[in-house]
Amino acid sequence: MTKITGNCDLLINNVHLATMDPDVDSHYGEILNAAVVIHEGIIQWLGSSDQLPDNLQPEKTINGQGQWLTPGLIDCHTHLVYAGDRSREFEQRLEGVSYSEIARQGGGIMSTVNATRQCSLDQLIEQSRPRLEALISEGVTTVEIKSGYGLNLETELKILKAARELEQQYPVRIEKTFLGAHTLPPEYSGKADEYIQTVCEEMLPVVAEEKLASSVDVFCENIAFNLQQTEQVFQKAKNLGLRVKLHAEQLSDSQGTQLATRYKALSVDHLEYLGDEGVNALENSTTVATLLPGAFYFLRETRLPPIDKLRASGIPMALATDLNPGTSPLASLRLMMNMGCTLFGLTPSEALAGVTRNAARAVGLQDKMGIIRAGYQADLALWPVQNPASLAATLNGEKPSLTVFEGRVLQSMTRSMNR
Ligand SMILES: [Zn+2]
Repeated sequence: MTKITGNCDLLINNVHLATMDPDVDSHYGEILNAAVVIHEGIIQWLGSSDQLPDNLQPEKTINGQGQWLTPGLIDCHTHLVYAGDRSREFEQRLEGVSYSEIARQGGGIMSTVNATRQCSLDQLIEQSRPRLEALISEGVTTVEIKSGYGLNLETELKILKAARELEQQYPVRIEKTFLGAHTLPPEYSGKADEYIQTVCEEMLPVVAEEKLASSVDVFCENIAFNLQQTEQVFQKAKNLGLRVKLHAEQLSDSQGTQLATRYKALSVDHLEYLGDEGVNALENSTTVATLLPGAFYFLRETRLPPIDKLRASGIPMALATDLNPGTSPLASLRLMMNMGCTLFGLTPSEALAGVTRNAARAVGLQDKMGIIRAGYQADLALWPVQNPASLAATLNGEKPSLTVFEGRVLQSMTRSMNR
């Protein structure tokens, strides 16, 4: 434990900690009847309340009244910046209209691309706001946002700029990912290799130059881009000093996971069709397996990701919303924790690790956040629950009674959403 004396900005006392620190030997890394001391945005000390130094002089003290304190939640895979609405399509599908007919009428992903291309930066920010606010209201302090509904340079940049603008307006950290290789735009129909060339030579250098993203993602799938095209994007990203991640094995085993681990990907995401070779590749890598139960649920898929094998191999599993208009319009990380347990068979502590410790790893921030530990960022959420398993087990409207972002306290309900 770090030694502390004297002044500090914030003391949170009389709480139970779910530190999620693997060095604390229990499911949730629990410390009961505990306190956390925060100074200059960093966790300075934590431990049993009765070991608090006598001479501590906090600027502000919060009595946690026996509630549970967790790390701030991290949604490590979203597409939350987009324009338009696809609920009419949802309705049509349930009325029996086929996917291909909907696509022929201009529906599907292209309707989102068209709406996103047509709106201004300000309109895009306005439309994305409620989704980000919904996540923040659930104790989310870090969100990954991907581009990918522009599919041309101008609109891809607009999406990433909207994400950057949102980060300036809200108490949340936004990790931006360039997903130009999301799907083939109609202008390049039948010319996927040419589009990948455009992504690599015209889009990626600008994204890197303007520092609009720290990672690059590709949708590697039989309906999107193949292994060779994926590798071209990864190679270019690597040359530009950007990290990579991958939408992999969602609808088939394309072996994208093996490729991604060779490029030291932060994460591979979806994984319903992940085979044994993919599991082996992950076991010998630092890449996180990110599970997206919202898309599995919304598409009414039946093939489950190989959770038992991932668990047995000790591969870190993250959970995320995949928040997007077509296949996971579900802005609730708590719902994903619940679905991770009910649909995929995670335990509640695995679900919480999936949105804290392992999600931090999936965005490359595992040395700064995702656990409650001295020296880490003071991003925290205080929950009015009697047991941390509640966070995955129940959806009874429990919101954090307060969230701490970079050491600053944001009160629930009445708190200002602005920084
Ligand atoms: Zn996705």
